[in-house]
Amino acid sequence: MHVALQPNEAKSTPSGQPRIRPDGRVNAMSVDVEEHFQVHAFARTVTRDDWPSHESRVERNTDRVLSIFADQGIKSTFFVLGWVAERHPALIQRIVQQGHELASHGYCHIRADRQDPEAFRDDVRRTKGLLEDAGGVRVIGYRAASFSINRSNWWAFDVLAEEGYRYSSSVFPVHHDQYGVPDAPRDPFEPSAKAPGLVELPMSTVRMLGQNLPCSGGGYFRLFPYAAFAMAVRRLNSAEHRPCMFYFHPWEIDPGQPRIPGAGLKSNLRHYTNLDRMEGKLRRLLREFAWDRVDRVYGLETAARG
Ligand SMILES: [Zn+2]
Repeated sequence: MHVALQPNEAKSTPSGQPRIRPDGRVNAMSVDVEEHFQVHAFARTVTRDDWPSHESRVERNTDRVLSIFADQGIKSTFFVLGWVAERHPALIQRIVQQGHELASHGYCHIRADRQDPEAFRDDVRRTKGLLEDAGGVRVIGYRAASFSINRSNWWAFDVLAEEGYRYSSSVFPVHHDQYGVPDAPRDPFEPSAKAPGLVELPMSTVRMLGQNLPCSGGGYFRLFPYAAFAMAVRRLNSAEHRPCMFYFHPWEIDPGQPRIPGAGLKSNLRHYTNLDRMEGKLRRLLREFAWDRVDRVYGLETAARG
């Protein structure tokens, strides 16, 4: 049994060749859809066996994200866990019906660099299937949990291409304690000669003092003053003619989420700081810059028809 999939696209899609190097007039908005207890910061305190005992808040929070985007007329890409798609298929349908791009965040937030090629293949295949079944659209995009494609598992790109993905957004060209390929290109690149149809769309950075500083959202957006972040995005767009690849999580606009005990100071700081201010900052960012789905910003939307 195989149901014909619709292209994963909204109306008014321009056709033409992929513009892998966009001009920076429109930025890429993305949401990594996972539960508040599934983040890497809590991986030691909340094991997978514990997940069912935690309150699920992902559907309500993602609906809130959808309503924020609807208010401002913005389309985004949603990188969703297969685990979430299995449990909340109606949410997946709402994401698609509202004109957003549906993409894969892997099955259950295991880092890609902790899986061998076989396990990784099963994971990305299973997730693509779950998402396509729930959403009825073709899925071509993938983002690894915690940006975990790096020099140790570069083979992951070949697997993604073989499994029908057309782009990945999993490399962060920065120094960081949990991820990063500091010398990776800052612009979209074809990571593997064996997979010429696949592009990596790295997370955004700005060059300062001879190094790449992250300019992609996440915790940095929550922790730093809005003005500093906006200045960096403006610099990317105006001076470098590059789009910003922005990401955040539905749990980041949920200040009422239950606190996970025993996670440690650093993890708590990363996870809980400024949750109550995030929605206001996000709305301002959406107002002040132009945003669209990842596939459209990078001219890959026609790949979803193939
Ligand atoms: Zn994630």
